[in-house]
Amino acid sequence: MLRFRGKGVYGAYAAGKVSLFKRHEPTVSRTEVDDPGAELKRLEEGKDRAVEQLRDIYSRTVSELGEANAEIFEIHSMMIEDDDFNDAIKEIILTQSVNAEYAVLTAGEDLSEMFSEMDDEYMRARSSDIKDISQRLISCISGYDSEEENDSDEKVIIVADDLTPSETAMLDKDRILAFVTAGGSATSHTAILAGNLEIPAVIGVGNELLEAVKDGDMMTVDGYTGDVMLSPDEKQIETVKQKRREDKTRKKRLAELVGKENVTLDGRTIKIFANIQDPGELDDALSHDAGGIGLFRSEFLYLERKDYPTEEQQLEVYKRVLQKMDGKTVIIRTLDIGADKQIGYFELDNENNPALGFRAIRLCLTRPDMFKTQLRALYRASVYGDLSVMFPMITSTREVKKALRLCREVKEELKAASIPFREDMKIGIMIETPAAAVISDLLAPMADFFSIGTNDLIQYTLACDRQNGKLEDFVDPHHEAVMRLIEMTVKNAHRNGIWVGICGELGSDPELTERFIRMGIDELSVSVSNILPLREKVRSLDLSK
Ligand code: PEP
Ligand code: MG
Repeated sequence: MLRFRGKGVYGAYAAGKVSLFKRHEPTVSRTEVDDPGAELKRLEEGKDRAVEQLRDIYSRTVSELGEANAEIFEIHSMMIEDDDFNDAIKEIILTQSVNAEYAVLTAGEDLSEMFSEMDDEYMRARSSDIKDISQRLISCISGYDSEEENDSDEKVIIVADDLTPSETAMLDKDRILAFVTAGGSATSHTAILAGNLEIPAVIGVGNELLEAVKDGDMMTVDGYTGDVMLSPDEKQIETVKQKRREDKTRKKRLAELVGKENVTLDGRTIKIFANIQDPGELDDALSHDAGGIGLFRSEFLYLERKDYPTEEQQLEVYKRVLQKMDGKTVIIRTLDIGADKQIGYFELDNENNPALGFRAIRLCLTRPDMFKTQLRALYRASVYGDLSVMFPMITSTREVKKALRLCREVKEELKAASIPFREDMKIGIMIETPAAAVISDLLAPMADFFSIGTNDLIQYTLACDRQNGKLEDFVDPHHEAVMRLIEMTVKNAHRNGIWVGICGELGSDPELTERFIRMGIDELSVSVSNILPLREKVRSLDLSK
């Protein structure tokens, strides 16, 4: 047995035989031609075929996965007909007197490279679409586009280096037990498709798997942990199969909770929101019935780039999130960089104790221009929905005063420039240091809400580095000191008429749900997969007993 580890992008289990994804990529060579006009004609004929194929894939995807997932193929049709793309191909054919396939390949590579260097995450992701359409067009021109029929009905685990949108769309969905890819991103079509089909998917397993695996090998896939076992023994297969049966029963039970309230048997209601770090998780949050977004970790905007994201780039992302949430509350946490999250272009000094160092609000307050860029984008986005903003790693009222002063400056600048924003955008404080909890009576009058970050609160209260796995024996998340700090925070919030939630991992710990509700916690913001299990827990409690 060989064990591999990737990132699980849809939690479920599978055990079965491997089917290696075979790609039909015709090799393209550069051939000089006597009659470039004939190549232009071949190009046009190939285009017609490609557009026809895309129309078929579109209809097939609409019926299998709905319109939203099929839209990409309409975009592909438009890209194939795009004037700039076609002009570039024709110019290569005419000026170099070369074959159409080579011209498509070259123009496609140029364009795809251009997209891959763009700042906007959405545009960068289009680079793989350009590769996809170029490949289709080349196949159609060269007549290498017949679909291979697979006559076996056996369900298989698809193993691939990565899958393009149209490759995923062409797979026979009834035959797929799981997806495992060497590369890929959590927002890739494979991940989206797996979620829609509710089959396990593990991405980013690495090329070592491709080197070791053969068609027909046995494999088990754990889409929760990202564990992949190649050639497992009988006992291991049976364990995964048993987990699969239990998981299915549990999911069915949880699915029945969609649309229901988060209310205890004796009538106490609590909000359950989602934690996300990337807008790609929004569909999942909505399908799991999140009441809102309780923590949007905005770092991803900075982590994915080679340079600081501009105001416009940030605005675009925040606006998209708010529009998608369609009036539901969205709480965006301002940048929390430093400690375990380092970014090269920030040029931060090495620190002996990074967790106790220059991070989050400390960094933002010492780089006010950078901080104000984010605040401006947030205020501008506020008109697109119900947006709140919160500051991480607060330890003093002085920090909050400084941050609020920058908010006022931003508002005045926007007003002077007649740029619309919501004057009443809510500002919250994260309580994730013991200092903040202890002075929560002083902080509460300065904020519209509190959100308790228990991951850091535990680390700082118990003096246990959250990155250090060796300290597991010494970290007791239920430690009375942590509980008392939370309770103190809740009391001080309510005395000052503001609401208080928990957005750290402890919020989804079912052993603490009753205690938190008894304390008076108003909201629990948890990872998407924990929303419905938490709802089930809340609905089982009777606090009158
Ligand atoms: C926390 O500290 O609990 C929290 C929610 O923030 P992060 O995990 O991003 O530090
Ligand atoms: Mg934190």
